[in-house]
Amino acid sequence: MLEKVVIANRGEIALRILRACKELGIKTVAIHSTADRDLMHVRLADEAVCIGPASSAQSYLSIPAIIAAAEVTDAMGIHPGYGFLAENADFAERVEQSGFAFIGPKAETIRIMGDKVAAISAMQKAGVPTVPGSDGELPEDGNKVIEIARKIGYPVIIKAAAGGGGRGMRVVHSEASLLNSVYVTKAEAKASFGDDTVYMEKFLENPRHVEVQVLSDGQGNAVHLYDRDCSMQRRHQKVVEEAPAPHLDPEARAKVLKSCVDACNEINYRGAGTFEFLYENGGFYFIEMNTRVQVEHPVSEMVTGIDIVKEQLRIASGLPLSIKQEDVKLLGHSIECRINAEDPKTFMPCPGKVNQFHAPGGIGVRVDSHLYNGYSIPPHYDSLIAKLITYGEDRATALRRMEIALDEMVIDGIRCNIPLHQEIVRDANFAEGGVNIHYLEKKLGLD
Ligand code: ADP
Repeated sequence: MLEKVVIANRGEIALRILRACKELGIKTVAIHSTADRDLMHVRLADEAVCIGPASSAQSYLSIPAIIAAAEVTDAMGIHPGYGFLAENADFAERVEQSGFAFIGPKAETIRIMGDKVAAISAMQKAGVPTVPGSDGELPEDGNKVIEIARKIGYPVIIKAAAGGGGRGMRVVHSEASLLNSVYVTKAEAKASFGDDTVYMEKFLENPRHVEVQVLSDGQGNAVHLYDRDCSMQRRHQKVVEEAPAPHLDPEARAKVLKSCVDACNEINYRGAGTFEFLYENGGFYFIEMNTRVQVEHPVSEMVTGIDIVKEQLRIASGLPLSIKQEDVKLLGHSIECRINAEDPKTFMPCPGKVNQFHAPGGIGVRVDSHLYNGYSIPPHYDSLIAKLITYGEDRATALRRMEIALDEMVIDGIRCNIPLHQEIVRDANFAEGGVNIHYLEKKLGLD
């Protein structure tokens, strides 16, 4: 087992990783910027190293600073969490070249999955269902592009191979605007990602976002931890997630779960990962793979009893998976609300001092948060301040517990989106289950 690990992240996920390390008897090194000296996990870690100023570019995104921190503390591995450098193949490579374990997949896997054209082609080979599309990069020849779009049928979406974070995409409704849209997306992709490769997919009009959590040890053992539904989104940002995804076609679901495990074996995947799909009319369509732990991983932990971060640490230590597929039992239902420090109406970030923080509790309630009374949320980073997670023997129980927990939660001194969540969990269509990715924006009158 790795003896000492650098936590190359901040906020709630840094604390989450620290707890898993403690359970496994792994020593922890917190790295932080000058703005983050007061973070909860910095206080709880065995060692702490300040690696730079508040600006992420000079701290949490600084590869040399992070590797130097691992060197001076004599650590054995680096956990990237999510965001920041978690899906940066160059970082993974540098970490391993410097003699540390990267707690995630091999650099080459991250590189393939970061290139959406390469990722889709790898998935097709492994039997994962994908969106009907151009099957690779769009050709230069405009006539050929027109032909491809006609074959797929409008509307289509033009996507940058190197795109991410919901950027580098353009929907095209008719042939009249096709070539211009391809041209503009290419130019934008070049400017934003330094790569103008674009491809085309059928644009699905009212899909749900359903994803599959996997764990794979890179030694021939892979399992899935069932699915999550993350359709409640605003501007491609997930707001509420749940596991399992409600009302799926049972046959299609069983098939897609198996195909994800097959894909892990096919690409010899190492670590925790997520296959993201759009789900429409009973069909699954792969859109991308995330090669890291995700914000919403707790809902899968709650319904399977498997600690995903501990498994990540075990895999990175070279241990085989501690579970087989038949050991993964799906029990009950779990919901997560992302609590952000933002104005509930305008969605503008609202950093500042938290005068009072009261976390709800009781049976089936979990709070993953770095907040404490008197903590000042710095303005430099992501606005996620807490994840409120509930569990119940069925969906209605998990949902009722979420209503109660949200009413009980106190975050005083700053504005946050608890009122938005209170509205969502009392929404009749959400209670039904299975709303699509446009539902929240429509409800809020934002579309
Ligand atoms: P990113 O890496 O930027 O998150 P994705 O490929 O995951 O890009 O797509 C982000 C979002 O864009 C999806 O969650 C979905 O809402 C929308 N989207 C992407 N591809 C399609 C498609 N073929 N049809 C409909 N919506 C799509």
